[in-house]
Amino acid sequence: MGVSFDKADGSLWLKFDVQPKADPTSDADRAAKLKDPGFGRVFTDHMAIVRYSADEGWHSARVESRANFPLDPATAVLHYAQEIFEGLKAYRRDDGGINLFRPDANAKRFRNSADRMAMAPVPETVFIEAVEQLVHIDHKWIPGGEGSLYIRPFMIANEVFLGVKPSSEYIFAVIASPVGSYFKGGPAPVSIWVSETYTRAAVGGTGAVKCGGNYAASLRAQAEAIDRGCDQVVFLDAVEHRYIEELGGMNVFFVFNDGSLLTPPLGTILPGITRDSIIALAKEAGTPVREEAYSIDQWRADAASGKLKEAFACGTAAVISPIGKVCSTKGDFTINGGAAGEMAMGLRKKLVDIQYGRAADTHNWIKKVL
Ligand SMILES: *Cc1c(COP(=O)(O)O)cnc(C)c1O
Repeated sequence: MGVSFDKADGSLWLKFDVQPKADPTSDADRAAKLKDPGFGRVFTDHMAIVRYSADEGWHSARVESRANFPLDPATAVLHYAQEIFEGLKAYRRDDGGINLFRPDANAKRFRNSADRMAMAPVPETVFIEAVEQLVHIDHKWIPGGEGSLYIRPFMIANEVFLGVKPSSEYIFAVIASPVGSYFKGGPAPVSIWVSETYTRAAVGGTGAVKCGGNYAASLRAQAEAIDRGCDQVVFLDAVEHRYIEELGGMNVFFVFNDGSLLTPPLGTILPGITRDSIIALAKEAGTPVREEAYSIDQWRADAASGKLKEAFACGTAAVISPIGKVCSTKGDFTINGGAAGEMAMGLRKKLVDIQYGRAADTHNWIKKVL
């Protein structure tokens, strides 16, 4: 059991037992893997892992060689999907150091997700420490240039029991995956399919938390989007099937010809940290931002009248993706002639420059790991 004690501020602290991999990936092999890593298939050498039991609380915090989990076939997560996750990135600065972007916001959201899924909350100090320890030991895996290290904290219900109840045991772990420059030569606009058949979230449901089940439930709608020749699906509200909610894994913004921004309000959507950062940056630049419901019919009408200038999706993985085309059973329409817009690209540059340490961090969003 790891040593645990209370820090002065009363938050739980665990000392991680760090056991570096005996035969780490060679420099040459790592360089080959980092050449064109794509997304989510290349992984670093280590993982951070912390265990919880109702009797012992959080314990056995370790950083060790990335390995399989032995899971009994009756492990609760395999049956009832009591699982949550996060996604954040580490960026290499020009001076060789490493930045994390708003890890405290991810830690807080992870606690909210745990609460909604009746799981043991991971103390925010432990969450951030696990992320930092992993980034530290695997920092050579962070690509230079516009690449980054995608960090995936997650937690699973680990009790061996087929009864339906909150698990009494959990595994919290963090893995990391180097990702290349997401888009070479700027992000290509995406086309989106408006799903009228499937919804993503209802009031009182789990739409506002990052649980794996939300993604499982979105895959059929995403497959429908692909069938229709689109890149992504956009969901409407579950009550009236009129108001835009978000994509399967990204929030959305609309840009009007008066220079203002609109984004759907929090509630059933996932409270994106990119969304929150964009709102802050836009307001700071004097751009009015409304968090208001916006219907698909209004979107179509505003695109036709020219009132709507741009639309874009946002999230940690792709930062900002312009939306070039919207497809639905009522016909298709293009936005900004199908091209990336000025507002989307300007906000993207502002955000990315802060993340890579090229612009001043006036919001205290950056946590330096190295
Ligand atoms: C993670 C996620 C987002 C984006 O959140 P960020 O914190 O900006 O990465 C948006 N929608 C859904 C459904 C998500 O799971």
